[in-house]
Amino acid sequence: MPIRLLTADVASQIAAGEVIERPASVVKELMENALDAGAKSISVVINEAGRQLIEVADDGAGIPSDELSLAVSRHATSKLVRADDLFQISTLGFRGEALSSIGSVSRMTLTSKVENARAGGRLQIEAGKEGRVESIGAPQGTVVRVEDLFHNVPARLKFLKSDVTERRAIDALLTRYAIAYPNVRFKFMEGNTITLQTAGDGDRRAILAALYGVEIAKQLLEINVEEDHLQLSGFISPGSLTRSNRKDITFFINGRWTQDTPLTTALILAYHGLLMVGRYPLGTLLVQIASRDVDVNVHPAKAEVRFRNQDQVFSFVQGAVRRALLAYSPIPQPPPASWGGPTDSSRQTGMDWSIAHDPALAGVRADENRVPQQASVEAAASEMGQFPILRLIGQIGATYIVAEGQDGLYLIDQHAAHERVLFEKLVAQAELQKIPSQRLLTPVAVGFPGDSAKLLGSQLPLLAHFGFEIEEFGPNTFQVRSMPALFAGSDPTAALRSVVEDFEEDETPLQSEIEKKLAARVCKRMAVKGGKTLSSDEQRALLTDLENCSSPRTCPHGRPTMIHLPIEMLERQFGRRGAR
Ligand code: ADP
Ligand code: MG
Repeated sequence: MPIRLLTADVASQIAAGEVIERPASVVKELMENALDAGAKSISVVINEAGRQLIEVADDGAGIPSDELSLAVSRHATSKLVRADDLFQISTLGFRGEALSSIGSVSRMTLTSKVENARAGGRLQIEAGKEGRVESIGAPQGTVVRVEDLFHNVPARLKFLKSDVTERRAIDALLTRYAIAYPNVRFKFMEGNTITLQTAGDGDRRAILAALYGVEIAKQLLEINVEEDHLQLSGFISPGSLTRSNRKDITFFINGRWTQDTPLTTALILAYHGLLMVGRYPLGTLLVQIASRDVDVNVHPAKAEVRFRNQDQVFSFVQGAVRRALLAYSPIPQPPPASWGGPTDSSRQTGMDWSIAHDPALAGVRADENRVPQQASVEAAASEMGQFPILRLIGQIGATYIVAEGQDGLYLIDQHAAHERVLFEKLVAQAELQKIPSQRLLTPVAVGFPGDSAKLLGSQLPLLAHFGFEIEEFGPNTFQVRSMPALFAGSDPTAALRSVVEDFEEDETPLQSEIEKKLAARVCKRMAVKGGKTLSSDEQRALLTDLENCSSPRTCPHGRPTMIHLPIEMLERQFGRRGAR
């Protein structure tokens, strides 16, 4: 085929694909525009997970009517003039691509009025075709209404995930911006339902309480540190409040939500020794840095940034968080000198405790407190995750399994270990949407107090997803008809009770977290208890199952499944080597 220039239509659809990938990208771009316009109040309405409607309204500076048409043209921006400006960007937008991109893949209506103008203007574009600007009465500010997103890009439409997933992505975005901008009044609505509303009075903790619940918000630690033109503010969780993944770690760099930043690693490293293996802190941290020291023009969706001096920013964040943590939280006691804990590696524990016990720590500077970078973290993690090959010796106290590994003796807590095994199996089956379910010979009816019953009632679809077939059966009573085959033979009443336990105080806005928590709670109840004698075959099976887990060393709640007594330690204790 001969070479041809792409038509403007095709070119703009290709470009739009880079910026606007899913409904959440539209929300992000419009939100950033509103913030750039100095809005004090922003409201967002979505319908059908943003496919049918996304509307963002603000009370910012507005767009003059005679510039509306320009605003929706590609590479038209009021935020950047010269190429040099690219290295001094203080606004969230600068590429002049969002409005034109959105306009080329939806039906977009832009309504805006600037202060002191007699009337506002309105402009509609549909799949890139621009209408005429009409004059219209409007309050100061801008409303962007985006309907039928991707209606003209069927391929893109096909790649969208389920409504639940797309909505979750929008939710995650909105809640993060709400935390990052406590001085802006936000109102988020799904259809006619308000999902989040903030006061815009700068009270970040009140926003956290609305999002995570009062109990959790109370525990979160506030950070506010300034050093060498770098500023860090926001909140972090104490070591006692953790998640099983990094999803609740958010960084805003100069007001911009930034994903995949190495600073996430800096934050995690700051918790070294304070968290169980496989657990992560949560936090939203805002970094302010001179705009000349950061390059934001790395990614079409502006989701990544590069620092001129990454090491400096890295250790600043790590040090500041570490100091805050140790200043706020009681320092945990070291394990008894001769016993290695679950994450045993004398190198690591050694370093940690020495930091923790240093009374002069409050004065430690970021650079003195520097810990190695990413590569070594990964290495340490895989080393800790590795499971030794074990030879079964037997059971003691009907509670612990004793086994020999190449490097010493292992004591395994049968309950914690079984919890881990069940949890990983259940989650893996749930991810494949294939939980083998087993019908009970006789369905079991279980009654609950009113509020618990309500809670349970709301969790039935989730439970069905996990292989529990449960029906409402009269007032505040439920009937279990089948349960996951994984739990065959266990008491269905206990399983059900575990679902309502602690639910309220645990509540989190993230569906995936809810699912994991639910799975963890059910598995805890279903796991074999301490005090139960196991046959050798059962003991051996448990070891093998544990060996196949991806995080064998802790239970889903973060408690250790095993204690390791290294040979060297035994030798020392018996005075065979380096006697004390
Ligand atoms: P960018 O934000 O990169 O400049 P956009 O395509 O997002 O590009 O927006 C183009 C221009 O339209 C902006 O530079 C700004 O002047 C104007 N604009 C867009 N949204 C708003 C808004 N909510 N309030 C005021 N002006 C806006
Ligand atoms: Mg923009």
